[in-house]
Amino acid sequence: MDEIYNLACPASPIHYQNDPVQTTKVNVHGSINMLGLAKRLKARILQASTSEVYGDPTVHPQTEEYWGNVNCIGLRSCYDEGKRCAETLFFDYFRQHKLKIKVVRIFNTYGPRMHPNDGRVVSNFILQALRNQDITVYGDGNQTRSFCYVEDMIQGIIRMMNASDQFTGPVNLGNPEEYSILELAQKIIELTDSTSKIVYRPLPENDPLQRQPNIELAKQQLDWEPRIDLEEGLRHTIDYFRRLI
Ligand code: UDP
Repeated sequence: MDEIYNLACPASPIHYQNDPVQTTKVNVHGSINMLGLAKRLKARILQASTSEVYGDPTVHPQTEEYWGNVNCIGLRSCYDEGKRCAETLFFDYFRQHKLKIKVVRIFNTYGPRMHPNDGRVVSNFILQALRNQDITVYGDGNQTRSFCYVEDMIQGIIRMMNASDQFTGPVNLGNPEEYSILELAQKIIELTDSTSKIVYRPLPENDPLQRQPNIELAKQQLDWEPRIDLEEGLRHTIDYFRRLI
């Protein structure tokens, strides 16, 4: 084995909050297990970290230098702090054991083959729109996210794995086009020709207000940037869910 991609952790808030103790465990114990394996086999190891390490950011857009604003006892902290601790472990194995590490911070990603019960916003809205059911916007819908199509993301991750050993990251990977959740809902209604109405539900605890990656480092070091804009990516994803249902 030459390379390990450690993606082992549920990424959807409803799934990682379903068993928060296991979420912290998979990030901490799981990373230790994989780092130990990488050390023994002298394999290169990549950690799928997350924009959640920035928490509810006070710096916008987020650069890799920003240390983040995370509540360590909130409902999201099993994921946020679990992923932060995993980054700590990766960098300590790098400094202490000279491991070849790679850390990517993945921002919201979507695309075909998402699970229909994933619970994240893009798949929820598309399924609701295709079924002409109410679209559930949490809060007032003014919170923002930046959505990256899955093929772009995979390209970025592979480029990072293949980059020189000196470049450990962390590096942001995501699409810097920023949309409010309300704009996303309207776009999906339009693209699906749906009769769905938008309804408002309470905002989950510690739901970040805004999120947008600064991807200058990835552009410079990996010669990478997303190619597929939101509308095109949504069309592919809508086609997928239409066939599925
Ligand atoms: N959201 C929403 N309706 C849904 C699912 C999510 O309004 O049915 C909102 C959620 O509150 C958040 C944003 O969409 O502000 C993105 O949520 P998601 O669960 O996709 O990922 P997050 O970026 O919060 O980890």
